[in-house]
Amino acid sequence: AVRQRYRGRFAPSPTGPLHAGSLVAALASWLDARAWNAGRGGQWLVRMEDLDAPRCVPGADQFILQQLARCGLLPDAPPQWQSARSALYQRALDRLIAQGLAYPCACSRKDIEAAHAAQGQPRARHAALPYPGTCRRGLQGRSARSWRFATTQCSQAADAPWPRADTALCWHDRWLGAQWQDVARVVGDFVLHRADGLWAYQLAVVVDDADQGITDVVRGADLADSTARQILLQQALGLPTPSYLHTPLVRGAHGEKLSKQSGAPALDLRHPLQALSQAAQVLGLPPQPQETDLSGAFAQWVAAWRQNCAGAA
Ligand code: GLU
Repeated sequence: AVRQRYRGRFAPSPTGPLHAGSLVAALASWLDARAWNAGRGGQWLVRMEDLDAPRCVPGADQFILQQLARCGLLPDAPPQWQSARSALYQRALDRLIAQGLAYPCACSRKDIEAAHAAQGQPRARHAALPYPGTCRRGLQGRSARSWRFATTQCSQAADAPWPRADTALCWHDRWLGAQWQDVARVVGDFVLHRADGLWAYQLAVVVDDADQGITDVVRGADLADSTARQILLQQALGLPTPSYLHTPLVRGAHGEKLSKQSGAPALDLRHPLQALSQAAQVLGLPPQPQETDLSGAFAQWVAAWRQNCAGAA
């Protein structure tokens, strides 16, 4: 069935300029929107994920918008800034609390490590530890630092709106195929509001995608692992689940994930077509000769994207 509408988004964190990896996500989400409905096109929005104020770089948001414009990637509506939307996140948290699906937590990272050690569980190096559920039974006189989502408690509520048998969740990713994750076991009760007072990405992204009517999330594969948590939150808040597509990551010369934190170089946008061509190749799209104009290259890529990733039609 052809869907009634398409609305996609690109959601950069303004912690620095776009790099080669973020351009892949931007281009893929833009192409997916343009390719929709036999090439008639849906809407494409830009959302600045500037909640982590200490990591945001002043001016990076405007710089990113200029970089996108230089690449011909123009949003169909004015961009939004998450920092202006706290009231929405608070309302969602209040709703989860009222439903018994969020609880205050007093644990520090050290407490969580100690709880795991006490259970004799060997610590996988670098792997994030699932939250052991310590504060689910109450704060025991300690003071609250953060708020967590109750992944299993909600699965026990008789009237909760998804299958009860276990907490493993399956979904389809348009690039990666069949996916599943048992959030309760792998991640545990995850944070909604952080000890440092900031809203957690997982809550904000779910609230914003729903509030902005996003039907299709296209983003980098580093976020594939967050999808199950986001679907659980959507279900708990009675929000629709968009379709998901996670694009391949661009690796640095030493195989490391490109990120602003690891010092990935900013894009050289004296030659936008060259930068876009590199991003297109990561997506399996044909490179374009240097003399092509941007609109010619886009026409080629939209056509190729429609063939490769027809899921959006
Ligand atoms: N702000 C996130 C990032 O920069 C992307 C969030 C998303 O697309 O869901 O990696």
